[in-house]
Amino acid sequence: MYFRKTAKRAIRTLTLFLVFINVAGCATNPYTDRSQFLLIPESQEVHMGNKAYAQALNDPKVVISKNPAEVDPVKRVAERIIAAAKQSKYAKRADSFQWDVTVIKNDKTKNAWALPGGKIAVYTGIFPEAKNENGLAAIMGHEVVHALARHGAERVSQHTAANLGMQIATVALDMKPIAQTLAMQALGIGVLLPFSRGHESEADYIGLLLAADAGYDPREAVLLWERMAESSKGGPPEFLSTHPAHDTRIQDLRKWMPEAMARYERASKAPISPLPSIE
Ligand SMILES: [Zn+2]
Repeated sequence: MYFRKTAKRAIRTLTLFLVFINVAGCATNPYTDRSQFLLIPESQEVHMGNKAYAQALNDPKVVISKNPAEVDPVKRVAERIIAAAKQSKYAKRADSFQWDVTVIKNDKTKNAWALPGGKIAVYTGIFPEAKNENGLAAIMGHEVVHALARHGAERVSQHTAANLGMQIATVALDMKPIAQTLAMQALGIGVLLPFSRGHESEADYIGLLLAADAGYDPREAVLLWERMAESSKGGPPEFLSTHPAHDTRIQDLRKWMPEAMARYERASKAPISPLPSIE
């Protein structure tokens, strides 16, 4: 009797899992041919991105810069990167995004991010490493690719699948159903968790090509990461703590450089100015 009840519950959960897998798609990254496991629909991912963006900007501690010296270069670079994205293999998604960019006045935070749906934030603290608009393009190209390549959705899907697997095990072993809570947590905070090394590398590669297409010198990406490595001595800044292993990263960027340079030579060149200095 007891066994039958447990077996029934296990079968029900397993069916749910199979339905879930069936609904889910497997996509292929158009640049790297890497296959992606995606459980959540794009609409939900974009909804989560928009929600996280509103939350981040409504935080009373967040100061939004209105200083044209800080805002204008970021907007200029964003505009060109977005235009390049709309001509890229991600054209359809880039067209569907409601893009927005915010400069956050925080000279101590070396960070930038782009959320699903095309919401971008750049912190003034990253200006010294970005140095000029080429460097800013390297950073923003990278971040925008995380959103375009659906890395957030993939990460949430992995968490959800792992947790569903745990749930099956939970039922089979008749343990307490804690897995569901974990799955909910992964969905809720998924958009702001750090990316895996594979996602980082993919964002570096496609971001490099995207910045080059937008008319920014891709060679600055190498210099940028060298500056990042330099400034991380004595404790990593935020941007680096979620973007690890800069030696490998610089080597990879050099390997991809000929392809990026070929694109840069074909592109109409962007105007480059230095970024404003901060304290
Ligand atoms: Zn990244």
